[in-house]
Amino acid sequence: MILNNNRHNMKRFFITIFSLLALISCQKTEPILGVSAERVEYLKENYSKFVALSFDDGPSLTTMQMLDVMERNDARGSFFIIGSRITDKTEAAMHRAVKMGCDVENHSLTHRHMPQFSAEEQREEAARTTALIEQYVGRTPQLFRAPYLDADSVTHAVVPQIFIGGLGPSDWNKDVSVEQRIEGYLKAAEDGVIFLMHDFEGNGATAEALEVILPRLKEEGYGFVTVAELFAVKGVTPQKGIRYDKVE
Ligand SMILES: [Zn+2]
Repeated sequence: MILNNNRHNMKRFFITIFSLLALISCQKTEPILGVSAERVEYLKENYSKFVALSFDDGPSLTTMQMLDVMERNDARGSFFIIGSRITDKTEAAMHRAVKMGCDVENHSLTHRHMPQFSAEEQREEAARTTALIEQYVGRTPQLFRAPYLDADSVTHAVVPQIFIGGLGPSDWNKDVSVEQRIEGYLKAAEDGVIFLMHDFEGNGATAEALEVILPRLKEEGYGFVTVAELFAVKGVTPQKGIRYDKVE
């Protein structure tokens, strides 16, 4: 009887150990936000620090200017689009971005302060943009940036994506010069930071700033990635209920 019990306990012990090992190896190989292990390896081999580039308020024709600069600098980024801005003219910018390895993420349907809506309207703002991104790009967005970074507990409860913020000068303001943008982003640059930028129609000053910022930061060892890639390269699994300006 005692022997049997011991055997049973041993069996249980080994099952627990094997389950734990399986869990650990699973966590190691499980890609964060769908970013492949190969991509993470490439980034770690080529760069020592990372900044995620992110753009709000597109798609627009100005998105193309951002992509031109990014293409020359081995840079990727995440485009948080406004669903209602997808048109026959702007659609091509999203397709090019995806082709370059960039992500298209959710920035609501009509770009209004989310807390002013009812819970159902807030849910719809995000859900309808998700459906449009799925229709045009063939991918489901994983991240959400609230317009004006204005979100309340209802927004967090009804929008299923991970919430993203970001740092940088007020590049949506036309009175902020190219020089001020350069200075502002260089000041905000730090390993793990998410740059918050805007690619709405006519905001070419940010593209001009990027022409200077990207080569300069590259010299310091920075790689430019999507927000999803930033989580993956840092080995951080994002949580709901938090707004990320930085990943560390
Ligand atoms: Zn916006």
